Amino acid sequence: MQQIRKKPSFVQGQTSGGQVLSRRHFIGGTAAAGAWLVECGQPVQATQSVPIATDYDVIVCGGGTSGIPAAVAAARAGARVAVVERYGFLGGNAAFSIMPCWHGIQEHHSGLLTKFANMVESFGAGPSPLKEGNHIEPEAVKILFQTMAEEQEVRMYLHHFITGVVMDGSRATAIVTESKSGRRVFGAKCFVDASGDGDLCFHAGAKFNKGVEGKTQAMALRFRVGYVNFDRFADWAEKQPAELNLGRLVREVREGGGKGWGKAFYFDSRLDRLFDQARGRYSDLPENTYFNCSSIRPNELSINTTRAYELDGTNADDLTKAEIILRKQAWAVWRFLKENIPGFEESTVIETACQAGVRESRTIIGDRMLTEEDGAKNREFSDSVQTCRVQFDSHDKKKYDTGGNKGFVDMPYGVFLPKGVDSVLTAGRCTSCDHLMNSGFRRMENAFESGEVAGTAAALAVQKQQMPRALSVSELKNVLRKGGFKTCQADRKTGPA
Ligand SMILES: Cc1cc2nc3c(=O)[nH]c(=O)nc-3n(C[C@H](O)[C@H](O)[C@H](O)COP(=O)(O)OP(=O)(O)OC[C@H]3O[C@@H](n4cnc5c(N)ncnc54)[C@H](O)[C@@H]3O)c2cc1C
Repeated sequence: MQQIRKKPSFVQGQTSGGQVLSRRHFIGGTAAAGAWLVECGQPVQATQSVPIATDYDVIVCGGGTSGIPAAVAAARAGARVAVVERYGFLGGNAAFSIMPCWHGIQEHHSGLLTKFANMVESFGAGPSPLKEGNHIEPEAVKILFQTMAEEQEVRMYLHHFITGVVMDGSRATAIVTESKSGRRVFGAKCFVDASGDGDLCFHAGAKFNKGVEGKTQAMALRFRVGYVNFDRFADWAEKQPAELNLGRLVREVREGGGKGWGKAFYFDSRLDRLFDQARGRYSDLPENTYFNCSSIRPNELSINTTRAYELDGTNADDLTKAEIILRKQAWAVWRFLKENIPGFEESTVIETACQAGVRESRTIIGDRMLTEEDGAKNREFSDSVQTCRVQFDSHDKKKYDTGGNKGFVDMPYGVFLPKGVDSVLTAGRCTSCDHLMNSGFRRMENAFESGEVAGTAAALAVQKQQMPRALSVSELKNVLRKGGFKTCQADRKTGPA
């Protein structure tokens, strides 16, 4: 591994961005930037020279579900790695959407994901994802991702929002961030875009899709309701018509699954069918939805039922709208439950997620794109570096699609390489898949595994002094396999070499 361990190079990086400011502003600059007086409503091309603060081998953009495995994998492979994250904690959607359901984790058993699942189990703060219900306590994700990063000496830059990229032709050479410390620029030889929304690739000029004709899956705000009396709830549920699909809840509660510490249960009900009858009294109840619940703590439900459709998760005004709509919906659902459903009389909202959860935004167009047809046919590819479970989860307004054959599909290496951009790999939700395939690939076990692929490839590229797309896929597969990673369906049958 060729390492850059010298002092920060302080190369002058040029960043630029068009801004339209509606009020008279002084833009306070950093030492190098100076300041400008801007006239009201005048379009301004603000250009700032900012020193490149540090130089890394690999920078991972986003410290979430795929970002931390990417950073850990790159560091394990010998690279000097930093992770840059907008929030003050790691874990991404698995943490900030208070999202406990790692559905496929028991089937996936591969590489770092297995290591992580074992860490969760021995940490003991919640159910075991390997033995009970495929659930992980979201708070445990924050601390364990941090532990994994610290163990591999990954440098963390929290509270840094990535707002731009420095390009040298088609090659990204540095990222631009804004934070309490002002504007900073971080250089690296290779980057992993694990921002979910593909922010780095977007700034680098990569092409992308957004849902179907710009219409993406619904955003949602998960929330937790505590002090639920499960026995009373189950007594009531038992008497309800089959169309509400409450049988699983009743079974879980009666068999003791939901009551004790460390027991997790999940049910995919249609309680939402009661919303329509009550809409006159609770006008903010969500429409075109379902009522999905998990319990990983006694007498508490983590609820997934709110819906904001046809808003863009990469547009700040749409995100603002979504937050307003979704928070109202969450409280309306709780009030409806409390006033109408036995077992919720003493309940309270304990927490709403800290931001609207974005299921789908940009999917970056890669050298290859995995399609719904690939999934349906469980295709195998000789250049496969990961497997993905074919279980769709597409929350479209017209149809909630949970299809798929639950088998696996191979992920060719090219899906991680943004077309036309060098020195960048994608991981997680923004990876190159079509709409329906992405609805399956974005699931956390797949997103996590893709981080291991992208991080390993980034480190290997730096070591070989090659661009990621020039790497030998068979060499990459061999490095991944050494970590117990299953790179293709064939590995699943025979076990890693
Ligand atoms: C409501 C909802 C329910 C879901 N239910 C399930 C489920 O039941 N099971 C399941 O497996 N999956 C579920 N998912 C999907 C799954 O959680 C995500 O697709 C997955 O976590 C995405 O991983 P990621 O690494 O791509 O993105 P994330 O985990 O979101 O990580 C992206 C990280 O990048 C950071 N970031 C973003 N932009 C910037 C920037 N510009 N600068 C710096 N940092 C940035 C973010 O803060 C975040 O930490 C659900 C998603 C939602 C929204």
